[in-house]
Amino acid sequence: MVVWDSELDMRHRPFSTVCQAAPSVIITGGGAAGLTAAYFAALQGAEVTVLERTREAGKKILISGGARCNVLPMEVDVQRDFVTESSPSALRAIFASWSLEDCKHWLEDNIGLALATEQENMKYFPASNSSREVRDRLVAACTSRGVRILCKASVEGLSRQPGGGWRCSLADGSHHDADSIVVATGGLSFPKMGTDGTGHRIVGALGHSLKPVYPALTPLKGRHPAGSQLAGLSLYDVDLQCSAAAAAAKGKKKGQRAQRSAFLFTHRGYSGPSVLDLSHSVTRALERGTPLPRLSANWLGDSRADWDARLAAGPGSSSVPSLLRKHGVPQRLAEALCAEAGVSDRRVAELRKTERAALLESLTEYPLDYDGHEGYAKAEVTGGGIPLSEVDCSTMESRVLPGVHLCGEILDVFGRIGGFNFYWAWLTGRLAGMHAVRSVDQ
Ligand SMILES: Cc1cc2nc3c(=O)[nH]c(=O)nc-3n(C[C@H](O)[C@H](O)[C@H](O)COP(=O)(O)OP(=O)(O)OC[C@H]3O[C@@H](n4cnc5c(N)ncnc54)[C@H](O)[C@@H]3O)c2cc1C
Repeated sequence: MVVWDSELDMRHRPFSTVCQAAPSVIITGGGAAGLTAAYFAALQGAEVTVLERTREAGKKILISGGARCNVLPMEVDVQRDFVTESSPSALRAIFASWSLEDCKHWLEDNIGLALATEQENMKYFPASNSSREVRDRLVAACTSRGVRILCKASVEGLSRQPGGGWRCSLADGSHHDADSIVVATGGLSFPKMGTDGTGHRIVGALGHSLKPVYPALTPLKGRHPAGSQLAGLSLYDVDLQCSAAAAAAKGKKKGQRAQRSAFLFTHRGYSGPSVLDLSHSVTRALERGTPLPRLSANWLGDSRADWDARLAAGPGSSSVPSLLRKHGVPQRLAEALCAEAGVSDRRVAELRKTERAALLESLTEYPLDYDGHEGYAKAEVTGGGIPLSEVDCSTMESRVLPGVHLCGEILDVFGRIGGFNFYWAWLTGRLAGMHAVRSVDQ
């Protein structure tokens, strides 16, 4: 019996109700996008096999969101929340295929996941706060619809079969054939989770191009203010901005603003949502050898005028570091900023004009000194990938390899922190899975 899921358009009848033999679909990669593709392909009546190279499907889901898995954002502005070097209209076309609301209903009603909101950061999490529940329910939804998940199955190559269809060759010398293929092998981030760019190489060998890749949403390396060691210090209201090198050279310090405000000093530099949010501008420039952007921090998010007024209000007999502490700057940071501005031993009333200006600058527009990043080992996602111009955005079918569909992080798109990357995985996985079946039909 074929079971309909409410969100499937009834015009698209499952293949098995209109044809004699069910089409076969192989999904390479059993992550969020691959499992979603498997679910929707099976829903259309296909015989679906997932080939996953690690010992279990959805490993990255398990470690996501601090093991809580931020499954979706509560609102989306495609232009603001996603990064691609492909055409913005192609990106918008993909998002037009499934609204956030419909995707949320799918997770709740079809995958059986009760969701809870984290209003402050506009995120959805499973009500259980368990990423394992997300992974297990997704896998169960697939297997209950007949999806076969083969683990320790590392795909090394794809080849077109003479009579039609595709062959997946595995590292152990075996192979699996299918009418159509979905490539959902992810990017290069967190290679210990099974993702090392093999998918890029496989489709690259068959004619796809690649927007040069770089680690994104990754911590930065750099020197702390005054060369001090501030590791472990967190701030929660930082206003972090990134301005392009050319604009910074012209003295224009304002640029793109981090959407999050939490900031963490690490042993080797900086992290926290605000840093991760803007890190791609830095990593991309570092990887490509292009001019570096300027990152500047307003540590408490208060304006220069606010600080000016605080300094004026004094008391003038107070030491500068203690006045900063009184207004909320953590002690270690206050001491480092004052040391760097050369005012550690000054009383507020003794500040010279230039010292006062330097202090105001370091409180509200502190230029973060960076010289590297933590790479793919700590990057939540990969920037760059297969350009959207090489897929049909209404089906995710490759324009280079008919019968092959691409979804998830392998493509030249990633989102900022906040559930946007899983939204991308669910969204593109659904399109790829549904259309992998329909492309056989057609
Ligand atoms: C630490 C961390 C926390 C995160 N937290 C969040 C979060 O809370 N919210 C959010 O939205 N996003 C989060 N992300 C990002 C999110 O996990 C990814 O965007 C998402 O998992 C991408 O899904 P995918 O299916 O495209 O790729 P992946 O999840 O990477 O899955 C790809 C799969 O393909 C398999 N594979 C690769 N090559 C082969 C091959 N040759 N043969 C067979 N199998 C292969 C891999 O083993 C892997 O299982 C986080 C990422 C990390 C690293």
